[in-house]
Amino acid sequence: MNSGTGPASRHPVLVVGAGPAGLSAALALRAAGLPAVVLDKRVQDTVRPGSRAAYLHGASLRELELVSPGLGHEIAGRGLMWSTKRSFWAGREIYARTYPPLHREGLPPFTSLPQVQTEDLMATACEKQGVEFHWGVEVASAHSGPDGVRLVDSSGKEWQAEYVIAADGSRSPLRSAIGSPLEGPRSRNTFVVVDLDDDPAHPLPIERVFHYHHPGAGGRNVLIVPFAGGWRVDLNLLVNDDPEQYISPEGLRRWIPRVMPESYGERVRWVSTYRFAQQVAATFTDTHRRVLLTGEASHLFAPFGARGMNSSIPDAVRAVRAVGAALSAQGPAEAQAEIVRFADERKEAAVYNRACASAALEHMLAERRSVRLRRRAAAAVASAGLKAGAWLDAAPYGPKLVQRGAARTSY
Ligand SMILES: Cc1cc2nc3c(=O)[nH]c(=O)nc-3n(C[C@H](O)[C@H](O)[C@H](O)COP(=O)(O)OP(=O)(O)OC[C@H]3O[C@@H](n4cnc5c(N)ncnc54)[C@H](O)[C@@H]3O)c2cc1C
Repeated sequence: MNSGTGPASRHPVLVVGAGPAGLSAALALRAAGLPAVVLDKRVQDTVRPGSRAAYLHGASLRELELVSPGLGHEIAGRGLMWSTKRSFWAGREIYARTYPPLHREGLPPFTSLPQVQTEDLMATACEKQGVEFHWGVEVASAHSGPDGVRLVDSSGKEWQAEYVIAADGSRSPLRSAIGSPLEGPRSRNTFVVVDLDDDPAHPLPIERVFHYHHPGAGGRNVLIVPFAGGWRVDLNLLVNDDPEQYISPEGLRRWIPRVMPESYGERVRWVSTYRFAQQVAATFTDTHRRVLLTGEASHLFAPFGARGMNSSIPDAVRAVRAVGAALSAQGPAEAQAEIVRFADERKEAAVYNRACASAALEHMLAERRSVRLRRRAAAAVASAGLKAGAWLDAAPYGPKLVQRGAARTSY
């Protein structure tokens, strides 16, 4: 079955999905001297609706710079960095810190820009490096066997590969095909995420601000994060809130001017609601060790701490390293061992990341009395004790990233 034009050609590796994970995999394949063929169900140049990643860690910039020299710097150059962060408790400032300007050469510790722009820069780098894209190709089924993988797209065309890097996002048909369910809970609360365009008539200081119990938002938590060209406002709804009241045009005009200058109520670029999943796939590869799950095909985290896209990039780079090693292995046992090593390592990283994002989510929601008491006690002494304020400022992002060396990269 190959559109009636003869047998399907066999690729050493196919990438399914052209989001951050798939684009990273494609760049890493080219950097390793391997052909990169990417299938994506989207029509070329369609902008995906909704607000997604803004915050890229320095480790991700370095990883991208390695697979595509210049790309990390280009993304950093388009993004924005803030040097001041603040936290408030019921309208009272409890913590502020301003870092001195960076004078060192090299990539910055982070950058902030809309995910669509990061993806555009990655896609342009892919094109320069000879990545072959097939847009409008929706993988409908996948069968793996001891010798490789056979994909069939929605037009009935067949694609064959020795290995498939699955970067097909949260609903991953490839994850379903290999029978690897997502395991883990989903938050009960809804979060409203709004991207606002900058208002040049009312410029704001470039600061990341977190509000516990914002008085203008009826005591709900509000996180305000700048990115190049705008502001991300994240409103933490209560369990019984009706999200519609907050995302309708009237709703937005009601609450946004209470947490931002008034004119920003008219500058909404995107608005989305989320109940965040905290899930990891049972296994990151199939029984034949031919399909490698990466990015949201293998894990879903709440975005606090920015671990989604930031861990999808190393997932993809490690998947390519494993495929490269498997393709040049001495025999099937060695090849399989390379893929299993990838699957174990990245599952361990995903479980760690989920734990960090869960800690952040638990702190934000404060459903347990002990968490509520600890937060309240810290807020009471925060003005006098810098440590308590620093903890309240940092806790909504989960534990700091830990990199325990290449074998256990945990972001
Ligand atoms: C509100 C919000 C804020 C976030 N903030 C951050 C942040 O600041 N930092 C961070 O690191 N992460 C953040 N994330 C997470 C980040 O957006 C995701 O982790 C990232 O997009 C995952 O990339 P991916 O390539 O795995 O999947 P996706 O981006 O979903 O890409 C999947 C691709 O696969 C294609 N596809 C799907 N099915 C098929 C099929 N059957 N056949 C062919 N193609 C297919 C899709 O068209 C798509 O192009 C945030 C997420 C949300 C929702």
